[in-house]
Amino acid sequence: MLNLPDTTIPSLPSLHSFTSALITPNFSHQPISKINPTSMRYYKILLNSYSPYSSSPVLTASKWKRFWKLEIALNARNTWFRILHNKITTKQRLHSYMPLQFQPHCSICPSSASQTETLEHFLFSCPAKYIVCSTALSTYIDSSLQSPTFDQYLDFVHMRSNFTVAADARYPSLSTDQVFSCILQVIWTSHYRFTFDQIPFNPTHFLTAIARALYNLHTQDNIHQIM
Ligand SMILES: [Zn+2]
Repeated sequence: MLNLPDTTIPSLPSLHSFTSALITPNFSHQPISKINPTSMRYYKILLNSYSPYSSSPVLTASKWKRFWKLEIALNARNTWFRILHNKITTKQRLHSYMPLQFQPHCSICPSSASQTETLEHFLFSCPAKYIVCSTALSTYIDSSLQSPTFDQYLDFVHMRSNFTVAADARYPSLSTDQVFSCILQVIWTSHYRFTFDQIPFNPTHFLTAIARALYNLHTQDNIHQIM
């Protein structure tokens, strides 16, 4: 019987980049079929894929703990988790995988605008979404956020923002994380209702949906005071 030394068996962490890249390859510029699988470039692209074992975690351990303890809607937590792990099927990404089936342009913007749906455009800078996001952030967190930048948005995503909910905001007892989760989820849901059900992207309706979601969170947080 052949006894192989343990060192011939790769550890699970060392295989993660390779296996996850096979499942969800992250080729942003060139379709996988165009890259020689025996080439060094192919290997390096696989290694560059996200790994939870890398030295730069998505969130620190204490922030993950805070994330899992957040009193927010389940679907909002799922969406936020996907964004943290950069698992967003933007048109730009779909186009890079299947250039014949998908165009890289945003469907919400007028076709004449021909805006590429990058990650930033998908999450934040698409004009229809930016109106919703900036209005909600300035109304429910801090009035100085009337013209938020994408960096400020990412600070909320990665839970490193110094903003707190202003005392004169509508729901001052909610945390910035709770408010942000509602904004995130309404914009996400609206995007896919537009994509799959052709429901027009109406910022006024979505601001109403955010107000309703915040009211629900506020009511749930304070129900023990009523009972
Ligand atoms: Zn757009």
